[in-house]
Amino acid sequence: MSDLSYILNELGEDRDNYFNAVAPPIVQTSNFTFKSVADFRKGLSDEYNALLYSRGNNPTVDILRKKLAALDGAEDALVFGSGIASIAIPLIALLKSGDHVVSVAKPYSWTIKLFEKVLPKFGIHTTFVDGTVTANFEKAITPETKLIYLESPNTFTYELQDIAAVTALAKKKSIVTMIDNSYCSPLNQQPYTMGVDLVAQSATKFIGGHSDVVAGVVTGSKEMIKKIFDGEFLNIGGNISPMNAWLLIRGLRTIHLRMERVCNTTKKVVDFLANRPEVERVLFPFHPSFPQYELAKKQMKDAGGLFSAVLKAKSVNEIEAFCNSLKRFFMAVSWGGHESLVIPSVVSIKPEDFNLSDPNHRLIRFYVGLEDADYLISDLKQALGQLGR
Ligand SMILES: *Cc1c(COP(=O)(O)O)cnc(C)c1O
Repeated sequence: MSDLSYILNELGEDRDNYFNAVAPPIVQTSNFTFKSVADFRKGLSDEYNALLYSRGNNPTVDILRKKLAALDGAEDALVFGSGIASIAIPLIALLKSGDHVVSVAKPYSWTIKLFEKVLPKFGIHTTFVDGTVTANFEKAITPETKLIYLESPNTFTYELQDIAAVTALAKKKSIVTMIDNSYCSPLNQQPYTMGVDLVAQSATKFIGGHSDVVAGVVTGSKEMIKKIFDGEFLNIGGNISPMNAWLLIRGLRTIHLRMERVCNTTKKVVDFLANRPEVERVLFPFHPSFPQYELAKKQMKDAGGLFSAVLKAKSVNEIEAFCNSLKRFFMAVSWGGHESLVIPSVVSIKPEDFNLSDPNHRLIRFYVGLEDADYLISDLKQALGQLGR
């Protein structure tokens, strides 16, 4: 992406119009005035191309949309009040009663709930498939299949899909494809350029980057984005506030530096854990032990931030003692910020259901932030001392 510097520093900005300020204004307004009935009529009849009301367009949000579309190599972007809105609203816009979706197994937890609980209320049904084998998508397609949903990699066990192969299959059958690209961000993977129609991303993560905004984005062709905008985007009202759009523009100024740092530190932390006797295995797309390492190298520019490790713990107490003793990794949901985090899978398993022989029960999901590698590794070292005591 040779024009990355231009996208992050200049694209979409119109400094002549606001006192040549370097930072854009936060246009904190709900509505916009018109000088004539004719102009007002025009704005109302084509809100996609007008400044009418901030549930639709807003100048601060517009700057962000231009940058995010360009980062994905797409024509347009829509920004939402959360990542899950950037998935749910496009799906509701594109699907109708009787339609069928083929989704990769184990996408983000709220995406699973959307497919299993919300969309069936409107007569839309989903089949989940193991996406590590492209033929599984083909086998699950029915005459009603309108959309194939991908998330490559996911954010707990990191299974990949061969994005170019799946989109080629979908195009042959005129099926729309959509992907959750949060793990990679547009800097490490550009699914739109590989043929995916809609690319969603939780902007809460790498775009925001400071753990202070919840937001989402979807990018695609102008035609598809306009269809979503004119319909469900305006009707459901999942828009972002101008203030939060401004914070995301600020996040974008440094995203390349943060990603590079996170990716480099993650490799050091993964290598440390992979060589420890207390660790059964690490799960990380760019580790040579990963089953889809070759595919990861082929379709991703880099990997980083999120990885998991299976501990050789002898009890749930040992896993809890490991996590409780971490001082530099905080225990919290989310990721993509400056701070390193952990989630042990046992947080969502009742103690009486804990099964030592199931590696997924001994799995810890790590996020590596902007701290020094040594600072994080020494914390892991002392916490591993809690195992086998
Ligand atoms: C966080 C996340 C989401 C949801 O985004 P929110 O901004 O929390 O609504 C979706 N997909 C993935 C992979 C995520 O990590």
